[in-house]
Amino acid sequence: MKLALIGFGQAGGKVVDQFLAYDERVDGGFVEAAIAVNTATTDLQGLERVPRSNRILIGQARVNGHGVGADNELGAEVAEADIDEVQHAIDDVPTHEVDAFLVVAGMGGGSGSGGAPVLARHLQRIYTQPVYGLGILPATDEGGLYTLNAGRSFRTFVREVDNLLVFDNDAWRSAGESVEGGYDRINREIVERFGLLFAAGEVGSGDAVAESVVDSSEIINTLSGGGVSTIGYATETVETSASGLLSSLSSSKGSKHDGTDLDTDGAATNRLTSLVRKATLGRLTLPCDVSSADRGLVVASGPAEELSRKGVERGRTWLEEETGSMEIRGGDYPTGGDEVGAIVLLSGVTDVPRIDRLQQVAVEAKETTEDVRTRSQEGTAALVDTSGELDALF
Ligand code: GDP
Repeated sequence: MKLALIGFGQAGGKVVDQFLAYDERVDGGFVEAAIAVNTATTDLQGLERVPRSNRILIGQARVNGHGVGADNELGAEVAEADIDEVQHAIDDVPTHEVDAFLVVAGMGGGSGSGGAPVLARHLQRIYTQPVYGLGILPATDEGGLYTLNAGRSFRTFVREVDNLLVFDNDAWRSAGESVEGGYDRINREIVERFGLLFAAGEVGSGDAVAESVVDSSEIINTLSGGGVSTIGYATETVETSASGLLSSLSSSKGSKHDGTDLDTDGAATNRLTSLVRKATLGRLTLPCDVSSADRGLVVASGPAEELSRKGVERGRTWLEEETGSMEIRGGDYPTGGDEVGAIVLLSGVTDVPRIDRLQQVAVEAKETTEDVRTRSQEGTAALVDTSGELDALF
């Protein structure tokens, strides 16, 4: 499906940059336009692929290009005040060719955390297409302020978008990795999953193989109904027909054509069925109780001859049982190569312990912050109090 991508803040911009790299690499064709919005000049300069004319600096009157310093209330105010500047950039996008908007942001900082929900609300007012969010949760060790920001932004963002796709940094970080190296790896994991999903919905209906191919309307229908979504992904490398041909040519045994075809088909079916299970039960972009999902979509990707329809069907039926949902869609995305993959999109998930904990820690952080501020104000007043012995200058 064709997307207008808008990255808000540093994380949002970097992930949009990675989406562009991915779209180019797989020849996905799902990025119709890419825009980055920020309050910090240096973050915009650090991007590699978003066209310079689509890098929008906002809030110059308030913060002069220096960022909002993890103050997401200020991030929201600045976005509200300068929304016209963002709109100018969107005016150059052929929006009639766009199936949906995707607003990407890290929820723990300031610009994206505050600005992304403001932008989502604005887009909802102007355009008829769905507006999705891709919200990145901070790791727990980033501390109280980031958790508090994320808790408040999450509440607001989920209310303003048609669906909030979530990625949890906490579930994906690795011990011993530098922050920057870690983000590079994590960002690739993000775009591999969400990019594959959106690229899958972009195979045109005119294509020869399009019979069981996922259509953008299936993605939109799975996401419609709102709430929070998560993605699972699993892959396996297979012997492609090219390498299979080589090995059969070099084989001294006679042809066992029919049997081989049957075996291959059965193997492809079993492979896909177990890939769907692995994707669902493995690490999700937002870990959750799978049975709480309201809707789902299974997409098989890889070389066309490996995309067993029976395998997708079985995976779909299994997911129906696992979630108790009748609304599980399925289809495939022929990509070539030698990797077969299964993407599982779970939408409208409600049992998410990570979000419960995030909100709880955010409430505690808010109370602690207020207590500390009151104590500090009282302390400062006591510090300068001379019992009337000294007068202030004015
Ligand atoms: P902003 O520029 O004020 O919106 O803030 P940032 O985007 O720099 O940071 C917000 C949050 O996003 C941080 O607390 C991190 O959890 C996360 N973050 C920052 N950079 C990246 C990145 O490159 N990738 C990922 N996955 N998360 C990031």
